Amino acid sequence: MTTLRLQGIDKKWDGFHAVKNLDLQIEDREFLVLLGPSGCGKTTTMRMIAGLEEPTSGDLYFDAQRVNGIAPRLRDVSMVFQNYGLYPHMTVRDNIAYPLKLRRQPAAEIEAAVQRAAGRVELQHLLQRLPAELSGGQRQRVALARSIVRKPRVFLMDEPLSNLDAKLRGTMRAELRHLARELEVTTVYVTHDQVEAMTLATRVAIMKEGVLQQIDTPENIYNRPANAFVAGFIGSPAMNLLHGDGDQERFLVGGGHVVAVQPPRAGKLILGVRPEDVQLAREPGTANLLGEVYAFELLGDNTLVTVKLEGQYFVAKLEKGERVKECDPIAFCIRPKRLYWFDAE
Ligand code: ATP
Repeated sequence: MTTLRLQGIDKKWDGFHAVKNLDLQIEDREFLVLLGPSGCGKTTTMRMIAGLEEPTSGDLYFDAQRVNGIAPRLRDVSMVFQNYGLYPHMTVRDNIAYPLKLRRQPAAEIEAAVQRAAGRVELQHLLQRLPAELSGGQRQRVALARSIVRKPRVFLMDEPLSNLDAKLRGTMRAELRHLARELEVTTVYVTHDQVEAMTLATRVAIMKEGVLQQIDTPENIYNRPANAFVAGFIGSPAMNLLHGDGDQERFLVGGGHVVAVQPPRAGKLILGVRPEDVQLAREPGTANLLGEVYAFELLGDNTLVTVKLEGQYFVAKLEKGERVKECDPIAFCIRPKRLYWFDAE
């Protein structure tokens, strides 16, 4: 049972401020995903929890214990990092067994645990190999197996699936979710892949430039984004964010294009519309967004249309079978209930 608490955590290097005044509580047995673009401070946050970096200021607690300054090996965390951290001279079997050997567990118990962990990541047939004889994805799975071979207080995983092919990543995602539930270990997972975040997390913490933007359930992150950054980061394709000016009854995009929806107030606003929340307008008078087809892509079960509006682009997801042509005018209706408004400032 472990609750992690980060209080006012800052990390600076020679004036570079990587993590800014971070407050975060990760509940016991929670699967928290740290999500954000490259360089936003996810790995640094994770390394501070592991004890591999010291915060410049702020306090870090494991339950009631303040762990600032406590060595990584005394924190009882199990880590998987992007660069694997495998011992090159040890076989896969010995790499996986290593955390158990350190604890001097009986050989038969160790072998059984190694077999179980290797089975979970589909590595049983490679136990005799050395890391140099493995592909990147296989090495990553060895690192995963080594982290799950014992039950730590906290799992820390930094992009543990990044080198796997799409199919294996899907299988491993399901396996990790299952494992986290079964082992009931508090987990912090770093990724920039929103699908991983949305499918694995009990809660997602989104960071940008060292600052926490929102922490919430995947559902709320999707349906109630706290700001335009979160809104644009979640969803595939991303939410459209149209910049414009609101008045009493209309929203003006760029020089003059009018989107016939009522803004919440006058002033500089960003209108957010998800590509899946628009439909082609079939009857005259129902359209509230007009544009010109700029490009389209036929995907398996739908069509993505990019529309140009006063120098801005707008993507709509249309059902399979809808026909569009480049340069044709196009009219949409957007459901007013599915609009998001953000302050442009
Ligand atoms: P990625 O997804 O690319 O791994 P990230 O969100 O995990 O990115 P971090 O690795 O936490 O990002 O890095 C945050 C910022 O801190 C980056 O701008 C990085 O260049 C900087 N940084 C990281 N480590 C150091 C260091 N030892 N010295 C100076 N700057 C560093």
